[in-house]
Order: sequence, then structure tokens, then C-alpha cells
Amino acid sequence: MRTPVSPRRAYTLIEVLVVIAIIAILAAMLLPALTRAKEKAQIIKCLSNLRQIGIGLHLYAADNRDTFPPLNSNQFSPPAPPENYALTIGGKDATPRFPSAAKAINRPLYPYVRGPEAFHCPADKGQAFPIKDVLGEGPWTPSNYEARGCSYRFNANPWGNNTRQTPADPDYNLAGKKESWVPAPALFIAMHEPPALSYEGQYYHWHYARGKTTVTRAQLMQDGQKFVSAIAFVDGHAAQHDFTKALTTDAAYPIEPTANWVWYKPKD
Ligand SMILES: [Zn+2]
Repeated sequence: MRTPVSPRRAYTLIEVLVVIAIIAILAAMLLPALTRAKEKAQIIKCLSNLRQIGIGLHLYAADNRDTFPPLNSNQFSPPAPPENYALTIGGKDATPRFPSAAKAINRPLYPYVRGPEAFHCPADKGQAFPIKDVLGEGPWTPSNYEARGCSYRFNANPWGNNTRQTPADPDYNLAGKKESWVPAPALFIAMHEPPALSYEGQYYHWHYARGKTTVTRAQLMQDGQKFVSAIAFVDGHAAQHDFTKALTTDAAYPIEPTANWVWYKPKD
């Protein structure tokens, strides 16, 4: 006797909609986890970059009488037309809009860190500050890496941020200093990303950005995002830190020493 085969039944519209709704819910649950995984991968890459750069700084110093790179080509040998090194310590050529950026082959770490990609933060969102002067110095978009050829900045001066104590060298800070000048190498910031500081009255979000990536001083308190930067310290180690408290608690003095980092050496 043959077993009757039930006729193939079509799905109803409701069944199809329920399946679609379940898939949408699962996707919505997975998406934040995927975003977090991507953000984690980006900061791991960034920390790896900064470790290489930290080693590069020491190799540079070893070849230059234990001295860190200068702020620009004028620091030790004026009055040549200045090439900036603080914002372009390594990496690739800048776009022609930025004539003060050093050529890639003139950048201090060019011989010491292989390839420009080590100077490229994968979360680099640029800095949309409004300066438009004769040098064409702003904005840095779509990213600092695309504009200037380097995502990171050397801690060569306070970048216009106020300090409560008089700095030992407000003009050059770490730039051109002997390694022995630095008071606490494991705490002293050598390289950072823009979110760690304010510049031109604005603040920046790169890693873990959830909204506007350039924020004005007036928008700072309502912003609600974290200011996270990967850092290379003078001793060569790299770590990520959250600068939100430093930037928002005392916005007029955002670079005072904390238990985790130091930006400048006070005058004796
Ligand atoms: Zn980064």
C-alpha cells in the first residue's frame, strides 16, 4: 500500500512576515557586537602602530645623540623654510593643500619605521576645524592620514592648551630633547591622537565615535561621547586611555598630570 504524500503547502503571508521579523531582530542583536568587534580590531591595529613608532623614536634618538626629533626643520637650523615634523613625523606625502607638511622621505622616522601604514590610524576621522589661512591648514579631511599623511601627533608643544604650571619648554616640549630630560618616561606622552587634546577650540572623536566627530567647546558638555586615544609613551610602550574626564572636568586646563599620563615637564 502506498503512503499518501501530503500536498506541498505554500507559506502564508503571515508566516513569511514572522520569519522576516525574526531575522531582523537577530540582525539587530548581532550588529552592536559586530561593531564592537570592528572597533576593538581598529584600536589593536592602532596600538600596534604606536608600538612601532615608539620603537622608531628610540632608534632615531640612538642615531642622534640620544635626542628626540625636532618640532620642525627650523628648531635647530633656522631660517630654512620650515617643514613641520610634529604632525608629520612619518607616513606618506601630504596632499598639496598642506605645504608645511614634511615630504615623506624627509620625515624623521622615515628610516626607522617601515612603510607609511604604521602612521595610519584605522579610526582616523580627521579634524574639521575651520581655519582657512594662506597655508591652507584646515580642515584636515577626510582624515589626518589622507590630508597630511600621518594620523598621529608628536607631543612637541601643548598645542594651544593652557597649563596650570609653567612648562619647562612651552615652545618645544619633548621635541629635540635628550631622553634624560624626560621626568617619567613610562608616563610621558610621546605620540597621541587628536581626541586626547583640544585644538583650535574643538574636540575630536575617532575610536568608538558614536556621533559628531568634531565637537565645539560649546557642544562639549552635551556631547556625551568618550574621548579615547591610543598613546605611545616615551619609554616605548603603547596604551589606550580615556581622556573624557581630563577634557570635560576642567576644560580650561585639560593637560594637567594624572596617575596615568603626563603631557609636559614643569619648570623647576
Ligand atoms: Zn587610532
